[in-house]
Amino acid sequence: MSECTELDNNLDYCSCTYDPCPRKGNCCACIQYHNNKNEIPGCLFDAEAEKTYNRSRKYFLQTQQ
Ligand code: SF4
Repeated sequence: MSECTELDNNLDYCSCTYDPCPRKGNCCACIQYHNNKNEIPGCLFDAEAEKTYNRSRKYFLQTQQ
């Protein structure tokens, strides 16, 4: 995968609190990583749900009810 040209801009908006992640700010890699695991990127969860680091689609749907 090529280097992200929007990394700095994306980091300004990234709401994921898992700071050690090597994909932080690289949204293409982030989506691909989580989608391959049947998960959803942290930025789509509300702030409280995001902090659990549970990125499963099932948990996401639970948070939307
Ligand atoms: S959602 Fe996952 S892949 Fe994306 S920045 Fe956070 S920990 Fe990394």
